[in-house]
Amino acid sequence: MINLGLIGWPLSHSKSPVIHSSALKAMDLPGRYGLYPIHPSDQEGLLRVVDEVRRGNLTGINVTIPHKQKVMPLLDEISTNARSIGAVNTIFRQGKKLIGENTDATGFLCDLNTHFSDLSNRSINVIVLGAGGSARAVVCALVKVASKIFVAARRPDKAKSLVEDTFSGRSGLAIVSPILLDEISLKDITGSIDLIVNATPVGMHPNVDASPWPVGLPLPVGCCVYDLIYNPPETRLIKLAIKQGLGHTNGIGMLIEQAALSLEIWTGMPVPRDAMWSAIRQQPIITDQEA
Ligand code: NAP
Repeated sequence: MINLGLIGWPLSHSKSPVIHSSALKAMDLPGRYGLYPIHPSDQEGLLRVVDEVRRGNLTGINVTIPHKQKVMPLLDEISTNARSIGAVNTIFRQGKKLIGENTDATGFLCDLNTHFSDLSNRSINVIVLGAGGSARAVVCALVKVASKIFVAARRPDKAKSLVEDTFSGRSGLAIVSPILLDEISLKDITGSIDLIVNATPVGMHPNVDASPWPVGLPLPVGCCVYDLIYNPPETRLIKLAIKQGLGHTNGIGMLIEQAALSLEIWTGMPVPRDAMWSAIRQQPIITDQEA
């Protein structure tokens, strides 16, 4: 019996049980994927669930906001990947050790290549909007394939510390620069941009009229838009990309890919993404966005 679950808060609208259960069924593996809502201040609750993995009562566990960083000191080892991102979204046991991994960066990159395969053949210039947890994962993925990455945040110190943390102790191929998320700064660089990634929650349900991209500033000619938001499926930013005839995608593919990569770690088997996609397509339109 494969016993899995998700720690986070809040979790009431999580898509993860549906995604993982459909894959387990398609793989003919008996198992369950439960939800463990742990309040942000409940450190004991967090430890209790992590201990269930240590004792083998849980095969593995996913971690989402607000525990992705807090869980790290409770583990025995953190993968290089998770350490660079500064967050763990997958916990598994190896012998007696508890290991923390992060599948968000690889999940993003796999999905990016699926949607915009032409971008993978050349060195690209990217603007990442936001400097939070998911922006860190996105930048860690993009340093492997991009030439220039601009991290645009409303608080310049946050963008600066993301850039410093991402590059501390290792060299990347890309030049990563922090910039202010405002019209003047973005206008200066739009001439040479191939990809814009929205890693802010701006435009997410219920604030569907908001856009992280300055209203009135056209998107760069010929660029692609990747919005990590998947509810609504077409954010205001995506609608702008459609209006300008640009390539675009939302974050549902990343959600599925990061889940599939976690399940591959726990089962050691290839995971059928199509089962996950068809399960998510049967879901009603979502009213909140959680992992
Ligand atoms: P986070 O850690 O809270 O970071 C959010 C970032 O957005 C911060 O830099 C924040 O700036 C910025 N921001 C928030 N409101 C803003 C505003 N009004 N104007 C400009 N910037 C603003 O959140 P996260 O975990 O990175 O998640 C960000 C989004 O990605 C969410 O919508 C989440 O659901 C989505 N996501 C999707 C997937 C997927 O699999 N598709 C995975 C992870 C996340 P401040 O620090 O100044 O507040």
